[in-house]
Amino acid sequence: MLELTLTIKIKILKILKIPNVKPDLFWNRYTLPYFLEKKSSMSLSKTTLGNFELYTIETGDFKLDGGAMFGVVPKTLWSRGIPADENNRIQMTMRCLLIKSNTTGKLYLIDNGLGTKFNEKLMKIYEVDFSRYTMEKSFHEHGFTFDDVTDIIFTHLHFDHCGGTSYFDENGKNVLTFPNATYHVTESHWKTATNPNAREKASFLPENIEPLKATDKIKLVGNSHQYENGLSAIVVNGHTLGQQLPLIEGDGKKLCFVADLLPTHVHVPLPWVMGYDMYPAETLKEKEGFLKRAVSDNFFLYLEHDYYKEIITLASDGRRYTVSETFSLNDI
Ligand SMILES: [Zn+2]
Repeated sequence: MLELTLTIKIKILKILKIPNVKPDLFWNRYTLPYFLEKKSSMSLSKTTLGNFELYTIETGDFKLDGGAMFGVVPKTLWSRGIPADENNRIQMTMRCLLIKSNTTGKLYLIDNGLGTKFNEKLMKIYEVDFSRYTMEKSFHEHGFTFDDVTDIIFTHLHFDHCGGTSYFDENGKNVLTFPNATYHVTESHWKTATNPNAREKASFLPENIEPLKATDKIKLVGNSHQYENGLSAIVVNGHTLGQQLPLIEGDGKKLCFVADLLPTHVHVPLPWVMGYDMYPAETLKEKEGFLKRAVSDNFFLYLEHDYYKEIITLASDGRRYTVSETFSLNDI
């Protein structure tokens, strides 16, 4: 590969509008191709899977602490897969999914990003960036409005998954974004979110949870709930109790929205579990079973937080799991 001087690297990063990254860290063989791939496919993707139409909903980018994202994995290892900025944070996104059912006419939205209720301080801490996409822009680009959504499936209620449920109007009132939606969350997760332990409390923001408590449109579902034919959810408990991973099946294909079980493609190796997880040993067990099934059933894994990759498939040599191929909804 062509050897570039540091000055040229800095110049290129500037042209690509990538701030706050140490050029040499960015310049490894893992991240640059992904970034270029990402930059060249800046439009939203969509596809049809059996009786469902699927649409990518990008709701914005943000950053989280790289150490917390990889738990016990040392930085020397994880930073080969994903670069850290000078504050040790990694680039993440909040990619949701809109599902139109041609059988029932329902329009499901899975999660809705962190929304617009953050104050300046929090915007800065998480370096929230709406310059690429907002939820509104994504809906508009696909020709939908927030009023069209009939059902919201929450994987879980951590702030980066449910903040878009409500917003502050011009009078500072916290109002619901989707006036016609019913909200689906597992019973065990609702209990946790409304009565969290001290460690998880910071992830459940009152301004996100209170409006949900106040509606009569919350529907508590059990494990492995079937929303309709071809749309169900796998429930895992390691990251938080009662996290749902929606599974869409059609045309002989299966697409799973993997949420925080597998936040990025770099988290594929079995022990690469987030420090944020409430019950990491449980995650390990659940992840092992899930990865096995993902390979044997040829799951397309839809990544909610991966800035660089939208969908991956996995391969296994019987010992280790690796990323096999990368897709967008357009190519599956
Ligand atoms: Zn989470």
